[in-house]
Amino acid sequence: MDTNTSVALAVEDLTVSFDGFKAVDGLNFYVEKDELRVVIGPNGAGKTTLLDLICGKTKATSGSIKFMNKELTKLAEHNIVRAGVGRKFQTPSIYENLTVFENLEVSFPRGRGVLGCLGFRRTPDVIQRVEEVAEQIFLKDLLHSEAGLLSHGQKQWLEIGMLLIQDPELLMLDEPVAGMSVKEREQTAELLKRICKGRSVIVIEHDMEFVQRIAHRVTVLHQGKILAEGRMEKVQSDPKVVEVYLGH
Ligand code: ADP
Ligand code: MG
Repeated sequence: MDTNTSVALAVEDLTVSFDGFKAVDGLNFYVEKDELRVVIGPNGAGKTTLLDLICGKTKATSGSIKFMNKELTKLAEHNIVRAGVGRKFQTPSIYENLTVFENLEVSFPRGRGVLGCLGFRRTPDVIQRVEEVAEQIFLKDLLHSEAGLLSHGQKQWLEIGMLLIQDPELLMLDEPVAGMSVKEREQTAELLKRICKGRSVIVIEHDMEFVQRIAHRVTVLHQGKILAEGRMEKVQSDPKVVEVYLGH
C-alpha cells in the first residue's frame, strides 16, 4: 500500500498453488495495529490457508507478506513466531495432564535475559504474568486444576492464554468459538475486544452474531480472493456476499 504507518500487516499479490489449484489467488490484505479483523467466507474459500501462509506453515508460491516491515515469506516458522506472530489452530493443543498454571508457565517466553540459558525458573515475574493472563482468560479460579478437566470452551481460552503470555503483536485465531456455549461466546467476544489493544488480531469465524459483536472490519474471502471488505453493515448488505455466503 502507501506510507500509512498504522498498517502492521501488508499481504500483497499473495498466491499459493496446490498442484495448480490456487487456494489463495493474488490476495492484497492489510491489517492495522489495534485492529480486530474478521475473515469470513464459504468453506474452502482459503481462510485457513491464509493464516497458514502468514505463520509460515505453508510457503507462498508468490507474493509478499510484510509484518512491521519485515518480510515473512522467507522466514522459518519459529522465526515468524519471534517476529511477534501467534496463531491458534482450530483444535486446542494444550497439555491435558498439566494444570492451567503449568500450561501458561511452559508457554512463557524463554531466552529473554540471563536466566534464559539456565533453564526455567518460577520467578515472581513469571508467577505474576501467569496470574494476569489467567484472569484475562477467565481461569483465575482454576489455576491449579488439570487442563484435561476443563470444558471445551475453557480449553480454547487456555490456548488463547498460552499465546497471550508471549505477548504477540499479531494474533490469529481460527474459529475460536466453535463448540462454545452462548455464555462462553459472549465472554470470548469481551476477551477479544480487550486483547486487540496494542496489537493486531485476525479472527476467522462463521457465527455472524459473534462477528458482528467483535469485528472492526470484515474481509470476505471467496475462491482465494477478496469478495468484499469493510464494516459489517456494508459487507452484510453486499449482494455478492449474500449470494455466495450469507444467503445459505
Ligand atoms: P477455508 O478455511 O476457507 O474453509 P482452506 O483454506 O482450508 O479453506 O482451503 C482452501 C482450499 O485449499 C480448499 O479447497 C482445500 O481443499 C485446499 N487446500 C488447503 N490446503 C491444502 C493443501 N495443503 N494441499 C492441497 N489443497 C489444499
Ligand atoms: Mg478453515
